[in-house]
Amino acid sequence: MLTRIALILIVIQCACAPAAYVDSAVTLYVQRWNRLYPNDQADYVEIIFGALERPNVGWCGPSGVTLDRSFWEKSSDLGREALVFHELGHCVLGLGHDIKDIVVNGQMIHRSLMYPSTFGETWMYVANRDYYLNQLRR
Ligand SMILES: [Zn+2]
Repeated sequence: MLTRIALILIVIQCACAPAAYVDSAVTLYVQRWNRLYPNDQADYVEIIFGALERPNVGWCGPSGVTLDRSFWEKSSDLGREALVFHELGHCVLGLGHDIKDIVVNGQMIHRSLMYPSTFGETWMYVANRDYYLNQLRR
């Protein structure tokens, strides 16, 4: 009986694990991710700002995501979204980089948001945002 209670407590504890720390500037993008990908919630991923070696502006490591603040400050809403979603693609979905390009509506674009350099500020992401968000879906 005691073992059964202990197992139940462990299960409850795992299901109710507190959300990880997310810098308040990034919360909006995590909420956006959680709405878009309800089966792949990102609440458990810590997201902080820190020093990254150029050209890196985002990093998914063992403790979570680190973002470069100077890049963040200069980025638009969609630039920030593309950066956060790329890193969550690594940290939540376990995706690697994808360097392939494809033709969509007669234009050559990167096949995935998991392209190694961020392009959220470009027409490619702005004009094809729905494609990229759906492409990340599993
Ligand atoms: Zn990456």
